[in-house]
Amino acid sequence: MSASCCGTTASLELEQNVNAGAGGLPVVVIGAGPVGLAAAAHLAERGQDFLVLEAGEQVAASVVRWGHVRVFSPWKYNIDAAARRLLEADGWTGPDPGRLPTGGELISDYLAPLAKLFGDKVRLGARVTAISRLGYDRVRTNGREDAPFLIRLESGEELRARAIIDASGTYTTPNVLGASGLPAHGEEAADVDHALPDVLGADRDRFEGKHTLVAGAGHSAATTLLALAELPDATITWAIRSGGASRTYGGGEADALPARGALGTRLRAHVDAGRIRLLTGFFTHRVNATGHGVEVVSRDPSGREQSVTVDQIVSATGYRPDHSIASELRLDLDPILGSTRALAPLIDPNQHSCGTVPAHGVDELTHPEPGYYAVGVKSYGRAPTFLMATGYEQVRSVVAALAGDWQDARDVQLDLPETGVCSSNLAQAQEQRVGLTTGLSGGLLATPLPLVTVSAADGAGCCG
Ligand SMILES: Cc1cc2nc3c(=O)[nH]c(=O)nc-3n(C[C@H](O)[C@H](O)[C@H](O)COP(=O)(O)OP(=O)(O)OC[C@H]3O[C@@H](n4cnc5c(N)ncnc54)[C@H](O)[C@@H]3O)c2cc1C
Repeated sequence: MSASCCGTTASLELEQNVNAGAGGLPVVVIGAGPVGLAAAAHLAERGQDFLVLEAGEQVAASVVRWGHVRVFSPWKYNIDAAARRLLEADGWTGPDPGRLPTGGELISDYLAPLAKLFGDKVRLGARVTAISRLGYDRVRTNGREDAPFLIRLESGEELRARAIIDASGTYTTPNVLGASGLPAHGEEAADVDHALPDVLGADRDRFEGKHTLVAGAGHSAATTLLALAELPDATITWAIRSGGASRTYGGGEADALPARGALGTRLRAHVDAGRIRLLTGFFTHRVNATGHGVEVVSRDPSGREQSVTVDQIVSATGYRPDHSIASELRLDLDPILGSTRALAPLIDPNQHSCGTVPAHGVDELTHPEPGYYAVGVKSYGRAPTFLMATGYEQVRSVVAALAGDWQDARDVQLDLPETGVCSSNLAQAQEQRVGLTTGLSGGLLATPLPLVTVSAADGAGCCG
């Protein structure tokens, strides 16, 4: 549909604006997490004007929420190359490349100093609520690619951009507790924790002496269960949909991934000893607040019900991307994962662990909407195979393309050891309180994560 066929004076003015082109406008990066800030570093290096919009009041606001978790990939894989160059030119000395940082250290020792270099090009408290193209809804085609992007913030302010790099992550949109992918009845009103509360640190009071239900069969569930098992007075119930926990236990000593086997063995020992009560075939259907706790009711596909009454619920059911801010853009999403279709087969968790995902860049991240790229953990949709290192290569490639350097954009490479970036020996050596990371699968999920206590202030105070 062309604008000229039904143009009013106002729309003609708009059209002239659009025709002025988006060329002089900045690239807007949504999210100042590790990947959004890496995108900013590449844009800065290439002399491209940019603006980073971060919803939180501090950089990496999602990482702050899991700041007590020690990651399993050592520093050398967690620092983007362009970011390193900019920081070193500013006199920064990188942390020990072989150490595993906590989320809090990732911010204080790397992301916060990096964001500081960009000054007011990183805007905090700037939540993006919608993106479109100026004067164009999703249907209108003619001249679309020349129209600037329109970005609406929660405050109502509107900005324009020549391209958008959406690195807004998935951490704030966890999967629901309800077994069929829909919220359980009463879930929205219930007080449900999502994966990785700081059970042995800041959140201890909420779990000590309480009965907690942990729902989910992944490693974030295992992490929380093992931490709860260290609280002497905690009562623990673990609910999974399947008929047995063998997938979570792994193969014990025979497991191809020894660390996963060891973790599974510990979890199984707690279940066998009765320390953790396992409910199998549990399809969460309803959550009711009662006078003596929260009743969680399962209804399986045959209609059979079972229930448990607890004080706390931890839903460790993974994450999903929220594409709603881009609903006026033309996206080509894989129907299963919610990544781009081209990326889906490369990251499919049925085929890949994060160590085996091949390098990919602008070609795999391109949507029908020219100039819009979802990157970072959001680009993976529901696939739990994401690594910061792959995200850094994504943004290197996308920014090269935005700068017109297609040769560099298409020369995608990943410098990871074949076994992935996890270092189970290191993790075990640093272990104080063992758990596994969440949101990741395969070799990385297989690695025990030592958890340390980091106060909220440690994460908060460091951000620019
Ligand atoms: C517990 C845990 C441990 C992990 N350990 C590792 C590890 O060891 N190694 C590894 O490589 N990977 C690890 N990951 C996976 C992944 O690398 C991290 O999740 C990483 O933080 C992803 O970076 P990101 O920049 O894509 O997204 P995020 O870090 O989630 O950042 C997204 C940012 O966007 C902001 N935002 C969200 N919505 C909006 C909006 N509408 N407007 C503006 N801003 C917005 C958020 O506030 C946030 O700051 C781990 C993940 C978790 C959860």
